[in-house]
Amino acid sequence: MTEIEKLNCWIEESNNIVFFGGAGVSTESGIPDFRSTDGLYHQKYAYPPETILSHTFFRKMPEEFFRFYRDKMLYLNAEPNAAHLKLAEWEAKGKLKAIVTQNIDGLHQKAGSHNVLELHGSVLRNYCEKCGRSYAVEDILKMENVPKCSCGGTIKPDVVLYEEGLNQKTMEAAVEYIRNADVLIIGGTSLAVYPAAGLIDYYQGNKLVVVNKTSTPRDRMADLLVQGKIGEIFSQLS
Ligand code: NAD
Repeated sequence: MTEIEKLNCWIEESNNIVFFGGAGVSTESGIPDFRSTDGLYHQKYAYPPETILSHTFFRKMPEEFFRFYRDKMLYLNAEPNAAHLKLAEWEAKGKLKAIVTQNIDGLHQKAGSHNVLELHGSVLRNYCEKCGRSYAVEDILKMENVPKCSCGGTIKPDVVLYEEGLNQKTMEAAVEYIRNADVLIIGGTSLAVYPAAGLIDYYQGNKLVVVNKTSTPRDRMADLLVQGKIGEIFSQLS
């Protein structure tokens, strides 16, 4: 039996699948990840991306932050790929209970998924730090330099920056889904960013699947390892 056939069997038998994913899920939609060789971390900027995308940098150098952010973090024309679409299909069939994602691009929802736990927030939501008013991402793009609310406050993307904490309710919900999952599929993530990556430790089942292009620190724990591009792999699943 091939790995794909085995995965297909587990999916057919289960109605309690949980997916845990990262930036690699969206690379086939044209959004670069961070750590691949063609990812953002291997491109040259005046500051490393981890520095620019930190809370301290956002506070101290907001103009530089927004220049990078508008240029490198917003891909509003990106479309869901076969992986996003398959996950949405499984949810609609009642097989998949939740997607826990580190992504901030909104592509799972664009594909039709509803129960998406966004650990690191979303570029599609933005709010004024002073009065709390919400802004669409298109508003940010229309404004120049540091986007400002009509009240004078700075508009901040609802994205978790380095040094910032994760939303407690989202974390707790993610733990519950993962703890109770029958099949846990981890896909398109280097599992290098904590505390998000630590969530998979809550899984108690015996069908832990890792689908990734390169090796991950958890490959040895996987009950099934499928190496390759997730969109190509998911397009072969039923
Ligand atoms: P990462 O860049 O650290 O790792 C991506 C992983 O996905 C790598 O192991 C890579 O080999 C693999 N990969 C790349 N393309 C793949 C494909 N087509 N199929 C299968 N595997 C593939 O990303 P991460 O682990 O998600 O952590 C980085 C952080 O970056 C996250 O917190 C996330 O918020 C943020 N991020 C998000 C986006 C997005 O929303 N699309 C994009 C870049 C970074």
